Amino acid sequence: MKHLDDPDIDTQEIQMFYNIKDELTYYSDNVLLRNNLIVIPSALHSQVIDIAHEGHQGMSRTKAFIRSKVWFPRINEKAETAVKNCIACQASSYDNSSSKQPLQMSDMPHGPWENLSADFCGPLPTGEYLFVITDEHSRYPVVEIVKSITANNIIPILDKVISQFGCPKVIKTDNGPPFNSGAFKNYAQHIGFTHRKITPLWPQANSQAESFNKPMMKSIRAAHTEGKNWKQELQKFLRQYRNTPHTATKFTPFRLLFGRDPKTKLPEIDIKKQEESVVTKQAKLNDQTAKDKAKRYADSRNKAQYKGLQIGDRVLLKNEKKKNKLTTPYDPNPFVVKEKKGPMVTVTSAHRNVTRNASFFKKLPSSPQQPEQQPNQRAKETGNPSRPVRTKRLPTYLKDYITY
Ligand SMILES: [Zn+2]
Repeated sequence: MKHLDDPDIDTQEIQMFYNIKDELTYYSDNVLLRNNLIVIPSALHSQVIDIAHEGHQGMSRTKAFIRSKVWFPRINEKAETAVKNCIACQASSYDNSSSKQPLQMSDMPHGPWENLSADFCGPLPTGEYLFVITDEHSRYPVVEIVKSITANNIIPILDKVISQFGCPKVIKTDNGPPFNSGAFKNYAQHIGFTHRKITPLWPQANSQAESFNKPMMKSIRAAHTEGKNWKQELQKFLRQYRNTPHTATKFTPFRLLFGRDPKTKLPEIDIKKQEESVVTKQAKLNDQTAKDKAKRYADSRNKAQYKGLQIGDRVLLKNEKKKNKLTTPYDPNPFVVKEKKGPMVTVTSAHRNVTRNASFFKKLPSSPQQPEQQPNQRAKETGNPSRPVRTKRLPTYLKDYITY
């Protein structure tokens, strides 16, 4: 405990805590919460800022990432100082107005992954390009490193992305190669999305990609400045970008696309997950309803089955151990029902007596002409001729039995 006279005490900070005293609660293990956010002790502030700035996210995204996860006094001030002092950032970003957010585009599409925009960045000094696909609803970016931008190279990559995330309604691109090719047109038709070409001279149209490409390229330059592997750093940048609340939507791209927020390096308590619990609860409820229904159906079938079996009926017994793919579900040698006790049924054949639950038996159509005690004798199809018979797949030795 420090005394208030202690010169190390930041009285301004204490005042800040006092101002929000109604929002503070004590959680377990000496954890203090401001509403749902963990309050970070001052010794860890710079560590938190470093985590939030991974991938060299810009100033506003670094702050937004911190605010979405934790709280401490003077987040803005401390984060701004840290980012301004990040040499890699300063060396890699263009100055002033050129880095301002471009104009917002048209309305946010109704749902995730319906409207995408696709674009290229590059070439990089390695000769490679970045193929950038952005979901205009969630702002979730997918970035693929490509060696060339020919249709033959790009289509399989887009195909992989579509198989992973699903087919969108619309993909917007510029009118350059490979998007102006016949192969791309055919691919769009084949998969079933509308390909909308927009003029690159209309800057608002592609602002989505623009506002993402700039910070991404900055992060790659920063990695280069620091002598780091840019491909690894790109993944870091993407992870941070997807997990940071987007300026426009105030939700993380990840959340809007997948309906949940992933774990990050910053600590969180479980309270926030309760928002998602409505969906989970409903899903669980549906699951339970479906299971109950299946159980009721099985029970009633079971009941009908044992009520339907009469002494003297000819039945087949389930093969209890499946030997291989060709083993039939029922033993082809019929039994005759000898005794019934509730759902338990005892059957007999020339060789043995068996007692099982009624569900283990399949009733054969009665064949009054046939002596019932001779199971291997040919049984004529006197039963329900309209039943579908999967004769094709039955072994030949079964041809003498009526199966359904
Ligand atoms: Zn930086």
